[in-house]
Amino acid sequence: MGSAIQNRILIGLEIHTQLTSLKTKLFCSCSSDYRGKDPNMLVCPVCFGIPGALPVLNKKAVEFAVMAAIALNCKISKRMFFFRKNYYYPDMPKNFQISQYDRAGGVPLAVDGFLHIDVKRKRKKIRISRVHLEEDPGRLVHLGPIDQSPYTLVDYNRAGIALLEVVTDPDLNSPKEARIFLQKLRSILEHLEIFDGGLEGAMRCDANISIAGGTRVEVKNISSFKEVERALSFEIMRQKDLVEKGLAVERETRHWDETRRITLTLRTKEEEHDYRYFPELDLVPIVITNDFIEGVKDQMPELPEARIQRFITTYNIPQYNAEVLVSDKALADFFERCVKLYNKPKEIGNWMMSDLLRYLYENNLELPESKITPEHLVEMIRLIDDGVISGKIGKKVLPEIILTGRLPMQIIEEEGLVKVTSRETLEKIVDRVFAENPKAVEDALTDEKTVHFLVGQLMKETKGKADPQLANQIIRERLEIIKAKGRP
Ligand code: ZN
Ligand code: MN
Repeated sequence: MGSAIQNRILIGLEIHTQLTSLKTKLFCSCSSDYRGKDPNMLVCPVCFGIPGALPVLNKKAVEFAVMAAIALNCKISKRMFFFRKNYYYPDMPKNFQISQYDRAGGVPLAVDGFLHIDVKRKRKKIRISRVHLEEDPGRLVHLGPIDQSPYTLVDYNRAGIALLEVVTDPDLNSPKEARIFLQKLRSILEHLEIFDGGLEGAMRCDANISIAGGTRVEVKNISSFKEVERALSFEIMRQKDLVEKGLAVERETRHWDETRRITLTLRTKEEEHDYRYFPELDLVPIVITNDFIEGVKDQMPELPEARIQRFITTYNIPQYNAEVLVSDKALADFFERCVKLYNKPKEIGNWMMSDLLRYLYENNLELPESKITPEHLVEMIRLIDDGVISGKIGKKVLPEIILTGRLPMQIIEEEGLVKVTSRETLEKIVDRVFAENPKAVEDALTDEKTVHFLVGQLMKETKGKADPQLANQIIRERLEIIKAKGRP
């Protein structure tokens, strides 16, 4: 036990998510739809920080943030103001970021929340210390790795985009738990319809990690929940390695290099910033009334936990399946659209859980990045139910659908995959299989396993298209006939 505690890993996360459903930035009316746009086109004196330009708070952003705070079980502050977080960096044209602060008389938008995550069938409470609003800095573009790039380009289209910052206590004990937490957070924010995690850079994460009660190291620039597990695993390995060699883990901030999959020193303790926080007096204090909170509560959509329960009771699918589907809003929506088209929730759930998810996982794809639609999946399941194709062919066709978006029937016709249900055709193939395997036929008279072998041979001959029941029946009939005649 002692060594388990000594090796204890403590991880706290600081997550920045863009409120991607907002049409405009946090403090000006510039469009927030910056992806794929020419650099530095969606800017104005406010997001450029021209002296004299005055920020105006986006009310919808407060609404969304309050919604998130309620879903994260937080206490919402009734009166607060913004702070200037001062630092000089090329991504910040004003030389300060408008943010919130929990000292010097400041309070964040919300505090003291929590989220439950399920790890190995155990419920675990992860405390959330604060949730606040702040503006996104601009985007720095490097040529290759950050420490080798000959120059830095800066695009201010992103400067001023509304960010929701969520900070957890160090309650996570493994990289996997961190990933599960992020996934759950993403699902909640997507269910609230304030966030689309499929957008590049919409969710970014910094992590504090310490092992065995040692020094805390901060890792910055983790770009998605897919990366978090990798980045943390690397950092834990690095720290353990230092400890084993009897070296000290330095207090520092490190940068996650996604391409090389390593963390690099960004700055040491001596270089830590003093942000000289002070109130942003260009903005009036925000007062959040109970009426406002109640109004937000009234428009809150169904949250993941309620949806999981509904999936179990309404569709009668296993809890595990419900949890996996709802962990990703796109998957859960896809499932419900399928069920609407064809009321076979169990079959639809099974196809999604096994073949569809496996394909997406193996190809590192998210559902919306693939070409499959609910209509596709439903048509394929119907073809199986109607006996047009076998389940085996279904498994073959599915990746083709996902990849190309072609209709199942089209693939089946073009590739000649329709199930062979004609007795005549199958009998001919059985003749051939029997002729090619005389020894097996003899063994099959007494050995059940060899009967299966013969069925397998027939399936192979038909490339899996034979109706398995009929194939079995014909082979057994043939064997009976041989038996009746007596051994040759
Ligand atoms: Zn602007
Ligand atoms: Mn921040």
